[in-house]
Amino acid sequence: MFEKISAAPADPILGLTEEFKQDTRPEKINLGVGIYKDESGNTPVLATVKKAEAILLEKETTKSYLSIPGTAEYGLAVQQLLFGTDSPIISSKRAQTAQAPGGTGALRLAAEFIKRQLGDVKVWISNPTWANHNGVFTAAGLETVQYSYYDAQSKDMDFDAALADLAQAAPGDVVLLHGCCHNPTGIDPQAPQWQQLAELCKEKQLLPMFDFAYQGFAKGVEEDAQGLRIFADLCEELLIASSFSKNFGLYNERVGAFTLVAKNSTEATTAFSQVKSIARVIYSNPPAHGAAIVTEILNDAALRAEWEVEVADMRDRIQEMRTLFVQTLKDLGVEADFSFIERQNGMFSFSGLSKEQVNRLKDEFGIYIVGSGRISVAGMTKANMQPLCKGIAAVL
Ligand code: PLP
Repeated sequence: MFEKISAAPADPILGLTEEFKQDTRPEKINLGVGIYKDESGNTPVLATVKKAEAILLEKETTKSYLSIPGTAEYGLAVQQLLFGTDSPIISSKRAQTAQAPGGTGALRLAAEFIKRQLGDVKVWISNPTWANHNGVFTAAGLETVQYSYYDAQSKDMDFDAALADLAQAAPGDVVLLHGCCHNPTGIDPQAPQWQQLAELCKEKQLLPMFDFAYQGFAKGVEEDAQGLRIFADLCEELLIASSFSKNFGLYNERVGAFTLVAKNSTEATTAFSQVKSIARVIYSNPPAHGAAIVTEILNDAALRAEWEVEVADMRDRIQEMRTLFVQTLKDLGVEADFSFIERQNGMFSFSGLSKEQVNRLKDEFGIYIVGSGRISVAGMTKANMQPLCKGIAAVL
């Protein structure tokens, strides 16, 4: 029966990691995958996570199933992170949150909810966007349409083109936005632009959906929610997929959340009952450990403060690498202007390197970058900066 099955294409980013692992050159550098690395090139467990785990080990009394949406404490902690502790959305119970297996699980829950409950609407995704967005939405049977986002010339957001494209969307269509640290460009809208986007969604009756995978990696945990909160003030209905893979370093624990905001608590409860039905037939109920860690950290004032420092350390290190990268290229006499790298947010930047240059970097220098030229700045360290920049200078 399996004879007629043909092989699926390898995931381009994870495939690159495999190739990197096989590479025996000691000086190899991986700027492909989106995982935070510290100055030594490691992805350590956060100290606050270790402390929370120690507490959980002590107080855990059962491995019994969680409910379908996970624990209420986790749901509330997620909402406070998204909307702010005193948000009326929380007090009026307009939001409902389901713990999900990672940000990807949250996106898939959202996609299934959209397809089953909102019908044949289109999902507008930025061009470019995270490689998996198209796959997740089409797997749920939805059609995706791209809206302009990146201006290769100015290395900035092409905001007018984005607005013009989204103005073509039909009422009910979904607009997917990156909460902060747009993946792959690192370019986020400014506050007045968020406002304009929110007004457009309201006026055209589009459903905004936020993919929030890097809260804390741009300016700060609170600051990074600015765009979402502008939308939450203006739009009555909203979907959010959160991931805690990066900001808690909980990659393999698969911690995410799907949050739905409705006009009122009755509509929120009814719509959310459908989300629970969807989760029930996909994974039944979520894994407990990662979400328990996040809840423990966010609900303990001391741990929360310490976690914010840990997030700031990751954010600052990436920013420092951005500055050092631009400076090192300059010092090596590279004339091309890379200063845009310093203006961008989060782990990623679009380097502007061509496919040929990316291939040469891999073949000749053992420097791994995805084909689009997206670089994971988190893979840079003080130690690999010279060889990295020398390689880039050689292929420019
Ligand atoms: N959304 C974006 C924009 C991402 O970059 C990622 C991960 O890289 C995800 C979602 C998925 O996160 P998770 O690993 O929690 O599934």
